[in-house]
Amino acid sequence: MPSIKKLEGKIAIITGASRGIGKAIALLYAQEGARLILSARNQILLDSVAAEICLAGGLKPLLFPLDVTNAQKVTELVDKTLDNYKRVDILVNNAGVTRDGLFVRMSEADWDEVLNTNLKGTFLCMRAVSKVMMKQRAGRIINMASVVGLTGNAGQANYAASKAGILALTKSVAKELGSRNVLVNAIAPGFIDTDMTQTLGEDVKHNIVKTIPVGHFGKPIDVAKAALYLASDESNFITGQVITVDGGMVMG
Ligand code: NAP
Repeated sequence: MPSIKKLEGKIAIITGASRGIGKAIALLYAQEGARLILSARNQILLDSVAAEICLAGGLKPLLFPLDVTNAQKVTELVDKTLDNYKRVDILVNNAGVTRDGLFVRMSEADWDEVLNTNLKGTFLCMRAVSKVMMKQRAGRIINMASVVGLTGNAGQANYAASKAGILALTKSVAKELGSRNVLVNAIAPGFIDTDMTQTLGEDVKHNIVKTIPVGHFGKPIDVAKAALYLASDESNFITGQVITVDGGMVMG
């Protein structure tokens, strides 16, 4: 019997899809039959993700390079999706940055960049699809938070605050949109092997690994599988939740 694809015919927008976790989500969603609209700032990397998807037999994605802090561009992204596909079934808010540093020395610019990209960018994308999904009486929004949004982290006050903000935003919007069958959830990854964690020194990584019960960093695909679950029919009665994907580092 041919296997049924979990996202057959679904239209999914993914931000931060040019590398790391967002790219892994794009590849997995494409494999499961979704039609994708991929965004990030770097057009060249987006092109190469699109080529990889096509090579693996996925549907050719639409590419829309943008900065998620630009409200006008975010509106255009959703308009382009509607022009082409008439609906938006899934939004994955994955774009994010870090600008780490000790709190007492943290510049306003570093605060603003992290809060604007991670939290405001998520807000802008959610707002842009919400009306559409409410009208459809169906939709899934998946926001990429972080375990540090639950625990806080020395040296990451801006980043942790942005991710804690995403968790509160997720739960608030889940309460507002639940009656329209728009489900809003968050994923809180722990340490995952991507460009974002590559800058950590070997000794820092070694110390972090000691705090992870499974004994190693996660891979982007580990997070992508949680994002697939939250986009699929398997999570039809789940909203306002946070799934930690962290090898057991943070336990409730
Ligand atoms: P990454 O490899 O650095 O990728 C970040 C992605 O976000 C890239 O596609 C980047 O593309 C995009 N992006 C950054 N700023 C943007 C902006 N202003 N506008 C549009 N796109 C932007 O990071 P990652 O590790 O895959 O992280 C993905 C998400 O998971 C982030 O939200 C991150 O906070 C979260 N997370 C990661 C970890 C981890 O250990 N890696 C842990 C917890 C949470 P461009 O640079 O081309 O714009």
